[in-house]
Amino acid sequence: MKTINPMVLLKLLLGTPRRLFWNVCRPGYVRASLARRSGQCRRCGTCCQLVWRCRYFFQDNGVPACRLYARYRPPNCSQFPIDRHDLTDRDLVSPNEPCGFTWAEAQQEEKPLHRH
Ligand code: SF4
Repeated sequence: MKTINPMVLLKLLLGTPRRLFWNVCRPGYVRASLARRSGQCRRCGTCCQLVWRCRYFFQDNGVPACRLYARYRPPNCSQFPIDRHDLTDRDLVSPNEPCGFTWAEAQQEEKPLHRH
């Protein structure tokens, strides 16, 4: 079994509640950030196994797939990556195979400090 640095593990573990917070409490931030996101999913499957492998993840003839994809995916899955923070976390797991989504550096949405 692959050993994971405790600080990396903590960072990855915190990503789940962070994405949940953005999706539930700051949907405007999520919408704005996704509007600035470019590219498309390459189906690498990395975000399905950031800390542990999702129970609905499987290999469909060698292609990463989700057993729930056609029925329902929670926002934490369907909106990934929400921002560059997510990409940074994701790259800790799979640094040599980039995500298909990107943000231009200057276009990164600032995180809101206040609720409007
Ligand atoms: S890490 Fe990016 S490219 Fe890979 S499956 Fe997730 S969204 Fe798609």
